Amino acid sequence: MRCEVCKEWAVGAGRTTVTLQRGGTTVTFHDVPTRVCRACGDASLEGRIALHLMTMADRKAGHHVAPLRRQSTG
Ligand SMILES: [Zn+2]
Repeated sequence: MRCEVCKEWAVGAGRTTVTLQRGGTTVTFHDVPTRVCRACGDASLEGRIALHLMTMADRKAGHHVAPLRRQSTG
């Protein structure tokens, strides 16, 4: 694969740490599958993985996703 930054054909699979800010809460993900350029070191997430992480961050920060509450009302 070709790197978007340095245009070298040096992009391979790698792992990275992603930190997202969500409404004052910092959510960190370790060992996230990513594409890393061996020439310039640029790491880019696949769209679906980035989307997944954002959804997870929203859940952890308690935004946008209403938690399911199980209430026993007799
Ligand atoms: Zn590069």
